[in-house]
Amino acid sequence: MHLSYILNHLGEDRERYFGAVSPPIIQSSNFAYDRLDDFRKAFASEFDAHLYTRGNNPTVRILRSKLAALEGTEEALVCASGSGAIAAAVMSQVNQGDHIVCVNAPYSWTKILMTNYLPRFGVTTTFVDGRSVAEIEAAIQDNTKVLYLESPNSLTFQCQDLEACAALAKKHGLVSIIDNSYASPIFQQPHRMGIDIVVHSGTKYLNGHSDVVVGVICGSQAKIRQIFEQEFMTLGPIISPNDAALVIRGLRTLELRLQQSNTSAQLIAQRLEAHPKVKQVLHPLLPSFPQYELAKRQMSGSGGLFSAHFNATTAESMEAFTHALLESKRFTMAVSWGGHESLALPTVAFYNIPGRPDSPIPWTMVRFYIGLEDPEWIWEALEEAMELVK
Ligand SMILES: *Cc1c(COP(=O)(O)O)cnc(C)c1O
Repeated sequence: MHLSYILNHLGEDRERYFGAVSPPIIQSSNFAYDRLDDFRKAFASEFDAHLYTRGNNPTVRILRSKLAALEGTEEALVCASGSGAIAAAVMSQVNQGDHIVCVNAPYSWTKILMTNYLPRFGVTTTFVDGRSVAEIEAAIQDNTKVLYLESPNSLTFQCQDLEACAALAKKHGLVSIIDNSYASPIFQQPHRMGIDIVVHSGTKYLNGHSDVVVGVICGSQAKIRQIFEQEFMTLGPIISPNDAALVIRGLRTLELRLQQSNTSAQLIAQRLEAHPKVKQVLHPLLPSFPQYELAKRQMSGSGGLFSAHFNATTAESMEAFTHALLESKRFTMAVSWGGHESLALPTVAFYNIPGRPDSPIPWTMVRFYIGLEDPEWIWEALEEAMELVK
């Protein structure tokens, strides 16, 4: 199926709503039935019916169809946040006494799910580096049920060999789950490499406009039905129809946005790498990246997110650099990423927080997200601010 068809037409049934080009927002909690037979059928299998919006909603259904097609899976669920999607996907695959093998630097709240939350229900996790398949295999126990991956992660961009990990999971009877938020389905489709379940923070690229928090789970019909009937219906992590319509609108430009961010970030990362004030750039598709060959094999692009270490000898100069970037009005300091606007998140922001230990990452690092602006205009601000790095 052509990507343009998925983003512009798939799942939309315009004849049913007056030919409207934009799908209707069916802002209804409840769906009415005229006949007992029909009601009984819907009640018997809520997954296949419109009964109540905690389960199915027609606007959300359009979005689910597009997302499943983007990842090349049979089905998809949309959740109220990426973290909700991750929790539902992981919890659906484990029971009391089970064990998870997880890469050691997943998204922060994913790690908290595994270190603080799941142990309350008797589910334990071993964290592994993830760059070595042998090390992952060595961590598998008799009670291991899930192999959880995040490739690349969103800070150091470490990758896992997805085909090898998928084969390993199959060999040991594990369900493989990957957080694919960084690459997006435009640049990496893990299910096509054998990974069972693909999750996303759709808050990032899929919505892409910094105005909706949303999560996605993609997988086989059987897996998605299982998650729907258990975690989804009981925990209720649903998106509102109105937000689903915003994400559908965001998807119209997904490919264009990703291409623009990808090209601009590549340009800026290369210039930073050549700049005397920069010690190291961490970008999975720069030849200097330690796992460049693997990243290139698995991803056709890498989007707008990368990090750089600066040749700074004082934290104060990194603070001055940050403030100069913000004063340029061309960068914003914020968490998250994947929207229209360029961001700078310096590690120095995670030092001196009352009641919190300092970040384990040196304050010389800044994570950049390059958005949709003119990259030359963005570079101008960076070049000027770098004069303050001392
Ligand atoms: C943001 C993010 C999440 C969490 O998603 P939310 O939508 O914020 O709940 C999970 N994984 C990655 C890689 C993220 O960047």
